[in-house]
Amino acid sequence: MSGGVAAKTLREGGYDGRLVLIGHEPTPPFGRPPLSKTYLRGEESLSGWLVNPDKWYESNRVELIAATAMGVNVPMRQVELDAGRSIAFGKLLITTGGENRQLDLAGAKLPGVFQLRTVADSDAIKEAAHRGARALVVGMGFIGCEVTASLTQMGVKVTSVLPGAAPLESVLGPEMGALMAGIHRDAGVELVAGDEVVRFEGANRVERAITRNGRKLTCDLAVVAVGIRPTVDILKDSGVAVDNGILVDAMCRTNVPGIFAAGDVANHLHPLFGRIRVEHYNNAEKQGAAAARSMLGSDSAYGYVHTFWSDQYRHKLEYVGHVRKWDRFVVRGSLRDRKIVGFYLTDGVLRAAVGLDRGGDPELDEHGELAAAGRLIAREARPDPRALADEAIDLEHLQIQER
Ligand SMILES: Cc1cc2nc3c(=O)[nH]c(=O)nc-3n(C[C@H](O)[C@H](O)[C@H](O)COP(=O)(O)OP(=O)(O)OC[C@H]3O[C@@H](n4cnc5c(N)ncnc54)[C@H](O)[C@@H]3O)c2cc1C
Repeated sequence: MSGGVAAKTLREGGYDGRLVLIGHEPTPPFGRPPLSKTYLRGEESLSGWLVNPDKWYESNRVELIAATAMGVNVPMRQVELDAGRSIAFGKLLITTGGENRQLDLAGAKLPGVFQLRTVADSDAIKEAAHRGARALVVGMGFIGCEVTASLTQMGVKVTSVLPGAAPLESVLGPEMGALMAGIHRDAGVELVAGDEVVRFEGANRVERAITRNGRKLTCDLAVVAVGIRPTVDILKDSGVAVDNGILVDAMCRTNVPGIFAAGDVANHLHPLFGRIRVEHYNNAEKQGAAAARSMLGSDSAYGYVHTFWSDQYRHKLEYVGHVRKWDRFVVRGSLRDRKIVGFYLTDGVLRAAVGLDRGGDPELDEHGELAAAGRLIAREARPDPRALADEAIDLEHLQIQER
């Protein structure tokens, strides 16, 4: 995603020299969101999710090289590829994304135990997920929740195991966690909370999982969705600084001149939120473009007020801002009706907002409540929590006390 957008931005920005995109997936750059949703359920192909149409690369003289980058030789200014080849660079953008965390458990490699990152992963899950099958989902972050929802919609009986009390609780808090738990339970999902899988068992294929609390969960397939780790292996011994991803400044520059990073792999210095690494589509897209502009000589900081979305069943979740710890969560709307906008405040400053079937897409609906919240977040506003909760008060006209 990030690499494809960067290539497009470089050409649109007037860069006319040699442009090479190295990647080891068979598809040209595309968006992954449907892999856990419409594509998994067989409702949509990926053609609408390509970053650029297939022909764009040739007509814009962008060389797509299907290879694995093995290392970066900084003194020689070369990327070393498998099969002994290397590509020289003047400037280099690293957008290697993330790879799924593995569970180091007995039976985790049994056939029928899946992960989800690639088209091949999604195809394999789809093939195993016939109507009436029993699936186990391990982890209830965004991917786990979406796979749980999609499999349920496909007529699969799903049990989901999660270490915390409720789905998405660590990102969205206990109120939203309880809401999401209710949505999954109402759809027929068995949530096994506060527990974890300790081993998978089966003769030739996964048949059950055993949990720490001694539950024996029978299944025909299992999907492990326990997060990603940033893919930084190619930078080993390169001198490019790495710490929970590739460390970049606000212009997407690493500590080595001429080398940039963007997307899931980039741990960037954000003017509002400090140092963060974001694993969402909108960031991959916008930061890929921002990095390309920096490569072209721009010195503007990447200060995007982050947004993301998640689709589960018929519900749409939208989020704007960024916060890890907050001291107040204010609800506008009705938790009972599951239609709310929730606001996260830290020391009185609005840091993030979440919408469940309410508030609009902060990227598309500029008059929506979440877009308005995004503008308050960008100003580090200190809105009155009572006004945030008050349906009668237009967020746009909220009286705020500046920081
Ligand atoms: C199933 C799924 C659903 C998602 N749904 C949503 C959603 O609804 N909303 C949302 O906001 N976000 C969603 N995301 C997250 C979003 O897709 C990611 O944030 C985005 O893909 C990150 O883009 P990227 O370009 O940084 O990395 P990636 O998309 O991971 O691309 C990195 C590429 O680099 C390649 N690569 C890595 N190392 C090497 C190497 N050494 N040599 C060659 N190639 C290499 C990889 O194979 C990959 O093709 C979803 C992710 C998944 C997996």
